[in-house]
Amino acid sequence: MAPLSPLTGGSAGTLSGPAAHALADAAPSVFWLDRADRPAPRTSLDADATADLVVVGGGYTGLWTALLAKEANPGRDVVLLEAGRIGWAASGRNGGFCSASLTHGESNGRERWPAEYEQLHQLGLANLDAIQATVQRHDIGCDFQRTGELTVATAPHQVDWLREDVGTGTFLDRDAMRAELDSPTYLAGVHTPDETAMVDPARLVWGLAEAAESLGVRIVERTKVTGLERDGAGMRVHTERGHDVRAARVALGTNAFPSLLRRTRLHTVPVYDYVLMTEPLSDQQLASIGWHTRAGVGDMANQFHYYRLTDDNRILWGGYDAIYHLGRRVRPTKDQRPQTFERLATHFFETFPQLEGLRFSHRWGGAIDTCTRFCAFYGSAHDGRVAYALGYTGLGVGASRFGAAVTLDLLDGADTERTRLQMVREKPLPFPPEPFAYAGIQLTRWALARADQNDGRRNAWLRTLDHLGLGFDS
Ligand SMILES: Cc1cc2nc3c(=O)[nH]c(=O)nc-3n(C[C@H](O)[C@H](O)[C@H](O)COP(=O)(O)OP(=O)(O)OC[C@H]3O[C@@H](n4cnc5c(N)ncnc54)[C@H](O)[C@@H]3O)c2cc1C
Repeated sequence: MAPLSPLTGGSAGTLSGPAAHALADAAPSVFWLDRADRPAPRTSLDADATADLVVVGGGYTGLWTALLAKEANPGRDVVLLEAGRIGWAASGRNGGFCSASLTHGESNGRERWPAEYEQLHQLGLANLDAIQATVQRHDIGCDFQRTGELTVATAPHQVDWLREDVGTGTFLDRDAMRAELDSPTYLAGVHTPDETAMVDPARLVWGLAEAAESLGVRIVERTKVTGLERDGAGMRVHTERGHDVRAARVALGTNAFPSLLRRTRLHTVPVYDYVLMTEPLSDQQLASIGWHTRAGVGDMANQFHYYRLTDDNRILWGGYDAIYHLGRRVRPTKDQRPQTFERLATHFFETFPQLEGLRFSHRWGGAIDTCTRFCAFYGSAHDGRVAYALGYTGLGVGASRFGAAVTLDLLDGADTERTRLQMVREKPLPFPPEPFAYAGIQLTRWALARADQNDGRRNAWLRTLDHLGLGFDS
């Protein structure tokens, strides 16, 4: 078998064999959210209100902001406004890799902030420790497992990259890698323990919401914020329901959705990422692949796959295609993309041919807030009354707690270790307006796919972007 085939494309639309069979009954819904213990909807805003702090967005960023605000100052009156349901968006539908990295990986962080990278690394580890401590303190049943992460090489040039980039991990040659997790496509791997935990993403969101409410945060669902306006010394937050909330401070955790601040509208684009979930593996099926550490796995291609086990031994399998639609729109219709599911299913069985016969139970997608520096940026507006953390670019499960802490520092006007960071003070370059954003992203995606097929060699377009510190990732 050609070891590169899973990473080099695969046609769509003519699917047959194990992948077609496996996809036949997959439900077009999010496994994590599609559960009997999903909390009942909370009430909507049905009257004008006041608060010390309004948080917009009920994903991890918003919930951490509300929770940390209350933990720091129990007397602060906090209201969280969510347009849909808590965690319905990225926070409830992601892969559940809760990484210590605040910089979308070490190489991105080291390249952009070489002088402060060690500090960022330590802050990231402390952030992950604090997430773990919160999960324990509030008894959040989100299957938090600090398994670490496995990075696998599936093409010869990636083996050299892995050797150079072992970091704090352990290099595994082909045999050692296959003894841990067995795929004929693996040429080597690195296991980095401790820096990543695997979580059940929706249960983490639901648990954070419950913890925030236990401290007195008022959470309001199905209440979309339509605008912000200065009001005396504070802000007036307008909602679709016609009611306003007046507050001294406003925190925005709106991720890939249209920003409520004109100044950040061009700084992110919504990029769609897709995922398959299998049915639970039998003991025999699991034994056929191994996976003793149960660590989350990612491969090294530009178009990378990520995959992990769930507590009931299903495999979540996602990534590869990162789809951008003209016009920066976030729409539920984009959560399903048959050609991507077919490609992912084909790659799954090329990676684990031992699992032929296994079926997928769920298929879904979701929007990632990609920015040109690949990790969150922070800022404030309206003379410090409004602050935000946006642009996690596909690695926000852990980093969102740090983003929330920075948002609160900015709203408090506090001078902290966090606000002194160059990473926090600098902003990424924006994407251009349409149709230039679309054209540039398509060209970059094409060039990245070509580089994967060409021993990782980057063409002139990618080298120019690298030189400018720009790029596209998921
Ligand atoms: C398929 C997929 C897989 C991923 N896998 C991983 C992974 O394994 N590890 C990782 O670290 N990251 C992963 N990510 C990214 C991660 O999920 C996000 O970075 C993270 O959830 C961002 O949290 P958030 O709270 O900022 O945004 P969201 O969870 O998107 O929450 C934003 C919320 O704001 C609300 N909102 C927006 N505008 C308004 C408004 N005007 N009024 C009221 N409410 C509003 C939305 O309704 C939404 O609920 C993945 C993302 C996707 C889509």
